[in-house]
Amino acid sequence: MTSKQPLRPPMGDPVNLKDYDPDYTGEYDDKDAAEDQLKDNRDRLRELQQVLYAEHKHALLIVLQGMDASGKDGTIRHVMQGINPQGVTVTSFKVPTPEELDHDFLWRIHQHTPRRGMIGIFNRSHYEDVLIVRVEKLVSRGVWQARYDHINAFERLLADSGVTILKFFLHISKNEQKERFQDRLNEPDKRWKFSTGDLGVRAKWDDYQAAYEDALSRCNTGWAPWHIVPANKKWYRNLVISNTIVKALERLHMRYPEPEEGLDEIVIPD
Ligand code: AMP
Ligand code: MG
Repeated sequence: MTSKQPLRPPMGDPVNLKDYDPDYTGEYDDKDAAEDQLKDNRDRLRELQQVLYAEHKHALLIVLQGMDASGKDGTIRHVMQGINPQGVTVTSFKVPTPEELDHDFLWRIHQHTPRRGMIGIFNRSHYEDVLIVRVEKLVSRGVWQARYDHINAFERLLADSGVTILKFFLHISKNEQKERFQDRLNEPDKRWKFSTGDLGVRAKWDDYQAAYEDALSRCNTGWAPWHIVPANKKWYRNLVISNTIVKALERLHMRYPEPEEGLDEIVIPD
């Protein structure tokens, strides 16, 4: 595919993932070409995070979704490198506990949304409740069908409360997943990441892609847009995500708070 591929699927249109090439790298030929910009983005993100924290007005929520081995952990490591840890919370959502299952599906999510001044990263999210839960038939069809509206309303509430939401689907090919799984098996330090259950999920690849297509279509709103990130090339994935975060934070036009009056006259006592 050589034509320009949109990062944001057009709102209101059904998404067909076959139209999105996971190998796409835009105008970049290789990693070297992208390296400088990724570095610049990291520096800029560090500055923006400081003013976000100081201004204490907005929050940023980054949602990462994707198949196993699509690079959710790697994205956090690479894109957030050098950020002040005090200003970031990362939440990895696993199989819900019995207590979590006794509540509505957003109960456990809401507790981890970022407070003012903070960047919150979701490694998996409430979208699992219309992905694995749908494919594995963990609830009835009527229950998961109603969740798209619940999700849109929930995200609207967050946005109305000052949370900027950026959602990223890390789009890899089935073949790329196979290679990454093989790497995990081959390298002793990566074996811990491999779970035989991942093969069961892989076997239902097409069902998951269809579930993703619905989530990407039905929850692609102006207040919480989806980005379909071509993620076969890790360096391009990192670049695209850091670009998007930097641009979103710049649009907030944040400022450091005004200092107290009279600081010029202050003499610090011995
Ligand atoms: P990992 O991200 O590899 O640590 O795996 C976490 C596992 O928890 C994945 O298989 C997810 O699909 C699963 N998971 C996360 N949220 C839910 C949920 N709401 N219901 C069922 N399984 C979930
Ligand atoms: Mg896993």
